Amino acid sequence: MSNQVTPSKFSSIIKCKCPTCRTGEVFTHPVTSWNDYNKMHEYCPVCGLRYELEIGFFWGAMYVGYAFNVALSVNVGIAVYILGHNPDVWVYMSAIIVGIILTYRLNFRYARILLLHMFAPKFDKNFIDKKD
Ligand SMILES: [Zn+2]
Repeated sequence: MSNQVTPSKFSSIIKCKCPTCRTGEVFTHPVTSWNDYNKMHEYCPVCGLRYELEIGFFWGAMYVGYAFNVALSVNVGIAVYILGHNPDVWVYMSAIIVGIILTYRLNFRYARILLLHMFAPKFDKNFIDKKD
């Protein structure tokens, strides 16, 4: 019997952990890594789940990332409208483009993590006990 605290699904999504064991890292480098922020482990280092569930699985993350960018654009547009008192169109476009550029790393990672958590095998609370 293990006395490890089970991470919540929300916590494992925020920390970019494996959807099945909720403890294994999905990405090999931190988001601040200049060139390697997008590198992923092929298999979970803890439970062995293959992250690419099927061939081309992460192509679907583009749709999630697109949804993130639409949400970001709408929110930035509303903020510019309120703070800038309805400025010219180029101000909206500039603010949205800067926002997308500043968040592209987070967008990339969380699009993949959300997709993985939606479709990967569910968390097994006895997994840690079985592993020991
Ligand atoms: Zn795992």
